[in-house]
Amino acid sequence: MEILRTVVELRRWSRKERNDGGKTIGLVPTMGALHAGHASLICAAAASCGAVAVSIFVNPTQFGPNEDFARYPCSFDADCALAEAEGAHAVFAPGVDELYPTGAATFVDVEGLSNRLDGASRPGHFRGVATVVAKLLIAAEPDRAFFGQKDAAQVSVLRRMAVDLRFGTEIVVCPIVREADGLALSSRNVYLSPDERMKALALSRAIRCVEALTAGGERRAGALIEAARQMLAVAAEIRVDYVEAVDWGTLEPVETAGPGTLFAVAAWVGGTRLIDNTILG
Ligand code: AMP
Repeated sequence: MEILRTVVELRRWSRKERNDGGKTIGLVPTMGALHAGHASLICAAAASCGAVAVSIFVNPTQFGPNEDFARYPCSFDADCALAEAEGAHAVFAPGVDELYPTGAATFVDVEGLSNRLDGASRPGHFRGVATVVAKLLIAAEPDRAFFGQKDAAQVSVLRRMAVDLRFGTEIVVCPIVREADGLALSSRNVYLSPDERMKALALSRAIRCVEALTAGGERRAGALIEAARQMLAVAAEIRVDYVEAVDWGTLEPVETAGPGTLFAVAAWVGGTRLIDNTILG
């Protein structure tokens, strides 16, 4: 597996794989601290693309001033081993200056969508995400890029961006990978104390509750939101950020949940912000 550090190296790798090797190119963007959720994306990419690059880049522009950019977990050697074991052919790990040259002043703003859900509570977050993913797509020119449903609002933003900017890259969405007890895997779960780790289960329980209610015929978004809020109100350490039922394409709130409705929650468990969701069938 190759370790690539510059945009020129990544583009050269991608073009060589496509032109000389006749391969389709898959890209898996990550911020590192890889876990089984990331592994599922790499595995899916390797199953459908002849050449797979995993990017590992903690993107400063998607963090707010008081967020965890400076202490974001990092495990580069283990990440490379995991990426290779799952079938990656290259890791792209640029420095910040490589993706944001001195004086960088160009950003991608997906209007409307970027201000909803996580974008409402983390101003500028999706602008940072869209900007870095655009840079990665321009550099790697992938046929497919793989993202997790775990960050479902991010998927909506990136799908809109890929269509609007005519990237021609297929955005592939992979299911949420969970711990055996239901907690969605996240690089940030390492921040949780054992007690918070237990309390964090309230998020996946809220999601499961909403799934059970809709399977039983409940369609009123208000009733589903209320039920989820009750599930999250079990511990003083849990502070709800949002509980929303929205159209997965537009991220606009819906009154009646149905196929394509994204039901999403975000909550602080102690000092750690966690998210979870389900797409209703
Ligand atoms: P991150 O490194 O947190 O930026 O995540 C990189 C990619 O992995 C994103 O597309 C995430 O949605 C995806 N991802 C993170 N956690 C999970 C999970 N538990 N299951 C599936 N995909 C995930």
